[in-house]
Amino acid sequence: MTETNRPDLYVVPTPIGNLEDITLRAIQVLKTADVILAEDTRTTGKLLKHLEIKRPLQSYHIFNEHKAVEKLIERMEAGEQFALVSDAGTPAISDPGFLLVRAAREAGLLVNCLPGPTAFVPALVNSALPNDRFVFEGFLPHKKGRKTRIENLLEEPRTMIFYESPHRLLKTLGQFKEAFGEDRLACVSRELTKVFEENIRGSLSELITYYENNPVKGEIVITVSGKN
Ligand code: SAM
Repeated sequence: MTETNRPDLYVVPTPIGNLEDITLRAIQVLKTADVILAEDTRTTGKLLKHLEIKRPLQSYHIFNEHKAVEKLIERMEAGEQFALVSDAGTPAISDPGFLLVRAAREAGLLVNCLPGPTAFVPALVNSALPNDRFVFEGFLPHKKGRKTRIENLLEEPRTMIFYESPHRLLKTLGQFKEAFGEDRLACVSRELTKVFEENIRGSLSELITYYENNPVKGEIVITVSGKN
């Protein structure tokens, strides 16, 4: 990469469980960035230790995102190169990052997002639901606006992907059953890339019965078939 197209900001995906899932290029970028911006410096510190990388770490998370952006842009303009990582997967995908990427682009800086781990792609492919067209819904709001978001999807013909926490899984499956009908096909992908990975596929009714009898822990993606 020549000096003229040297990115000011790299967005670097990191493993969603299995530490082997980091690309050679991601390692190279983390090794050479002036500063690594991390959602949680302890989590990223462990990854860097595993990769034997020693670079300055600075915290960048949702609580300081708005405030931090302006200063970081100034530092990029002064020539510092940053690599942004989150706790897992691709930054800016249901994680901090969007504000910084937008501000950097608007300031005419060069941003480069590396391809790499993210939870929704393996969940979608493992679900065996149609994946030629799909819609990523991320996390539903916990309270206000939740019902409307689900109602807006009643006629959605594309496969829908949701991020969810384990303690809300049954509630969400119940709401999906009410909205989309008990026979709608869906898949719950849990602990992707980890030792206890599972991808359970069935109708919403079958999934509810399964998870009533098998309470879950861990990280979850729910994939729901679109309306036929
Ligand atoms: N930036 C991440 C990405 O690219 O997928 C997403 C971060 S978001 C804060 C965390 C959510 O992603 C979890 O609650 C879960 O829904 C999903 N997730 C992350 N890792 C996962 C895994 N190993 N298995 C299943 N879902 C996962």
